[in-house]
Amino acid sequence: MQETLKRKVAYEGVGLHSGKKVSIILKPASENTGIVFIRSDIEGSPKIRAMAKNVTATARATTLEENGVRVFTVEHLMSALHGQKIDNCEVVMDAEEPPVADGSARVFFELLKEAGKMKQNAPRKEIVIDKVYRIDDGEKFIIALPYDGFRISFTSVNPHPLVGVQYSDFEITDEIYEKEIAGARTIAYEKEVETLHQMGLGLGGTLENVIVYNDNGWMNELRYRDELVRHKILDVIGDLRLAGIVKGHIIAAASGHSLNTKLAKLIEKNIE
Ligand SMILES: [Zn+2]
Repeated sequence: MQETLKRKVAYEGVGLHSGKKVSIILKPASENTGIVFIRSDIEGSPKIRAMAKNVTATARATTLEENGVRVFTVEHLMSALHGQKIDNCEVVMDAEEPPVADGSARVFFELLKEAGKMKQNAPRKEIVIDKVYRIDDGEKFIIALPYDGFRISFTSVNPHPLVGVQYSDFEITDEIYEKEIAGARTIAYEKEVETLHQMGLGLGGTLENVIVYNDNGWMNELRYRDELVRHKILDVIGDLRLAGIVKGHIIAAASGHSLNTKLAKLIEKNIE
């Protein structure tokens, strides 16, 4: 059956890219609502449905837009919503970007845990992958295959010798998500940070919420030796959640928000 939150929970912080202060309220929602963002800072509190077809940009973060109103960097919250198997939730925000929190999905995961879950009166609409989907971009790709479960195999390729090639493969059960994935943070190269700032991105990033490396090493302590690839998996889960709660085997190499959301769009379109 579908599930929503037992009660509402709130959290405050700054957005990773905008650096803007934001408060977020996660509220229970009725059957078949799905995940819906509500911009309480705009007159009429417009809604943006968290659906793959509403993805309009993917540079550095996933942006959703509906009726000219947008929210961005939704992927870590979406990932936590998958991790807690929440079907229906209203996400009320007074800015266009959710808080970065610790740069992973852990804070949102814990927040949802605190809210508790409530069973509803409609069957869950699980998306069962029953054929092969494939998105390519040169050497990068992401594939979805039929599989009895939800599994992600990811190869990340980074030219920096410190990061290098990382491969990880997880059967994404609730326990594995919480223990191995939820806490993996986003990553940035020190030299790249300045360029991002000039582009008006990463303004809320600090050593508290981003792993930064330079030519000499890591500037903060890693939570996992292969934290980068785990975060890539966290992002895939968040981006695919835009299509729904997927059952299948995802295999990806060097995939990011662009390819992930293209796959989500393809799956969503095929279901419709
Ligand atoms: Zn991410």
